[in-house]
This record gives sequence, structure tokens and C-alpha cells, in this order.
Amino acid sequence: MAGKVHLIGAGPGAADLITVRGMRLLQAADAVLFDALVQPEMLQYCPQAVLIPVGKRCDKASTAQRFINKMLVDAAHKYARVVRLKGGDPMLFGRAQEELAALDEAGIEYEIVPGVTAALAAAADSAISLTRRGFARNVLFATARVGEGEQTSDWLKPVLAADTTVLYMGVKQSAAIAAALLAGGMPPDTPLLIVENASLPGCREFPLTLRELPQAATFQLDGPAILLIGEVYRAKLALADEVRKAG
Ligand code: SAH
Repeated sequence: MAGKVHLIGAGPGAADLITVRGMRLLQAADAVLFDALVQPEMLQYCPQAVLIPVGKRCDKASTAQRFINKMLVDAAHKYARVVRLKGGDPMLFGRAQEELAALDEAGIEYEIVPGVTAALAAAADSAISLTRRGFARNVLFATARVGEGEQTSDWLKPVLAADTTVLYMGVKQSAAIAAALLAGGMPPDTPLLIVENASLPGCREFPLTLRELPQAATFQLDGPAILLIGEVYRAKLALADEVRKAG
């Protein structure tokens, strides 16, 4: 008889931002497969479990994902309580569907526990509401795929239409993203905010305009970073400008 798999959102990084349900399941797990984005502190909840790192950076080939699927199925054949711990929320940009399909195919039972996604942790750190009244009535969670030969319009159109956009996995491609947004007609003075290491002690914020976005390549970010776009960030930008001028 195969075990059961719990797909759990670890949250954005801080060990106490996992849900109580997620933590309890970790405490009872026999084996835990975890992502590169999962912080080591979180694994202190499951000293009893066999720890299986399945770190994969987002730009690696899909064979890596197939390998993870196989490891998950194998673990469920070996252990009764398997946890698949994924950064943020498992159902947002986390390849959860591929893993669930593999479990379905193998006839393995599973349950999903949501987590705090990076967008919401970044909003908390920035103290700017994603849906500030009078500025934004909708939020888009998106990712920009501007790799070679890929269409940029898939992500561009909704970003141009959204009040607030949270762009995952985009900061390394800042220059290409800025070029696409400007070409799409987004005003160069559109306020943006980059949040690095949301919820973690090394959290940093960079308010900037769309025109300045290509400079993000020089920020020397060493943790995960997310790009927020929208009028809600204008006040923060103005404040940063004042500080810059005074300094
Ligand atoms: N499922 C995850 C997202 C995985 S994609 C979630 O719901 O949050 C990975 C991307 O998430 C990173 O490239 C980065 O853009 C963002 N991210 C994850 N953790 C982050 C953090 N602590 N601070 C800022 N961005 C983060």
C-alpha cells in the first residue's frame, strides 16, 4: 500500500509563516521532499523525517521536473506520510499540476495545504496594499517569459491592463521586461517596487520607475526577488526620491 502525499506551501521563507496545518503535517512526516526556496529553519519542524532535497531553479530543463515526480512517487511507495514542501503557495508557479498528475497516474492519494505566496509577503513588507482604494481594484499574478523565441504578448497584455501586477521570476530579466512594457505603451514613469527576500531578515526594497528598471541588473540581489508594478507604489517612489535628494 502506498502512502499519502501532502503538498504543502512553505510560505515565503520565514519559518513561522507556514500554516498551522502545514507545520503539524511536517511534524508527523516520515519523508519530506523540499525545494531550493525552502529555508533550512523550516526543516526544524521535522527532525524525525527523512529529508530529500529536490532543489530546482526555475530555468532548468523539464527533465528535472520529471525526476522530481518520480522521486515523489517512489517516496510514497516507501513511506506512509510524505510531505512535498514547496515555496510560497504550491498552486502558484510551482509546477504542482505536474506532480499531482504523476501522483494520480500512480494511484497515490494526496492533499494540498495552501501557503502564503511571495506576492502577499512582499505586500506586507512594503506596507502598501495591492488593492489600495482609489488606485487599484485588481491584482494580476503573472510571470514574464521572455526567453528566446517565446512570445512576449502572453504576459504583456494582462500586465498592461492590470491596476497592480506582481511579476514572479522576472527580476533577472529586468531589461527585457522593461523594453517589452515600454514598447507596449506603459508610461516610463510607472512606479515599480522590487522586493528581495520578502518575510526574511535580509529583506530589501527598491522603489524605481519603469524607465529605471534595467538598472535592477546592478542591484546584486542574492535572494529571491519579486517585481510589483502599479500606481499604488507612487507614494513610496516619491518618498525614496526625497530621501535620495536629501542624501
Ligand atoms: N510558489 C511560489 C512561487 C515560486 S516561483 C509562491 O507562491 O511564492 C519563484 C519566484 O517567487 C521567485 O523567482 C521570486 O520571484 C518569488 N519569490 C519566492 N519567494 C520570495 C521571497 N521570499 N521574496 C521575494 N520573492 C520571492
